[in-house]
Amino acid sequence: MTTRLLAQFQDLLATPKKCVVIPHKNPDGDALGSCLAWANFLSAKGHEVAVVSPNEYPAFLNWLPGQEAIVKYSVSPDRALQHIAEAGVIFTLDFNDLKRIDGLEAPVAAASAPKVMIDHHENPVDYATITYSQPEIGSTCELVYTLIEALDATVLNKDMAACLYTGIMTDTGSFRYPATSSNTHTIVAALLAQGITHEKIHQNIYDTFSAGRLRLLGIALENLKQHPSLPAVYITLSQQELDACDFQKGDTEGFVNYGLRMEGIQMAVMMTENKEENCIRMSFRSKGAFPVHDFARTHFNGGGHHNAAGGVSFLSLEETVATLCNKLNDWNTHFEK
Ligand code: 5GP
Ligand code: MN
Repeated sequence: MTTRLLAQFQDLLATPKKCVVIPHKNPDGDALGSCLAWANFLSAKGHEVAVVSPNEYPAFLNWLPGQEAIVKYSVSPDRALQHIAEAGVIFTLDFNDLKRIDGLEAPVAAASAPKVMIDHHENPVDYATITYSQPEIGSTCELVYTLIEALDATVLNKDMAACLYTGIMTDTGSFRYPATSSNTHTIVAALLAQGITHEKIHQNIYDTFSAGRLRLLGIALENLKQHPSLPAVYITLSQQELDACDFQKGDTEGFVNYGLRMEGIQMAVMMTENKEENCIRMSFRSKGAFPVHDFARTHFNGGGHHNAAGGVSFLSLEETVATLCNKLNDWNTHFEK
């Protein structure tokens, strides 16, 4: 981070503030981990802090230190809005477009408090007074670590380390994705030195499937199909299939990655029906050249990173599959030969 950016954070935090920290809707390990670590740091530095999430988060994150105090807008809208209205500063973490916080978009945009973005997605929208955006970095948790280290490394503690480790591990695919750097490992070494139990964190995140979730994975794999002419696969999950497996939020997390396990496959898509929101949630993953963020942005109201992105479709599941396959035909030159 630049000295100018660091000075902006130092100025902002020079006096005690009422801080609100917000992750994107459907927060994942990086979103929640970065918010909780940053909130912990802010409160250690004498600020008053509330983490306000647009909605619920998956059960596999409900052990993160500090998560019990999160105010969920979908559960307690009045409290959430009060925090935002009274905030002295609003930190938005792991997203770069207020569209990604759903119902909180308007209240945050209208709030008088300065906004601070800490994020690693491409194409940040210009809504913040301070924008700490580094798309080449693998996780927002890495950015939060860098910030904590630069502001006051002495307050790093085991709880912050557990949160940051969670986000770095989940957003790097357990240290596999290309954005994993030597610096990522240097940071992880510092987190381990705080005494966290990394194998326990891994188990909490990855080895806590319910029987229904495991059955749902079976159905997802059964439903996997390959595009007729391209090295791309897709998975569908209908609302009926989700219901039959007692679907809980977060249950499909990671399923899309299985598509990339097939030899020669460069891109995988998962389409999950959501009758309540009347849409199809889409997850995109790729290996190598195929830019899933551009594809998701162009055709499915989404975005994200070069190799991992999300989006949404308002067609039926069948129509979404047909549209996907057609659009992929137009993008065939983006696959590696
Ligand atoms: P997932 O498939 O796990 O939901 O999302 C993959 C990545 O894309 C994550 O980094 C997530 O933050 C990002 N992402 C998911 N949905 C959207 C979206 O609608 N817009 C943007 N810009 N990024 C998204
Ligand atoms: Mn992230």
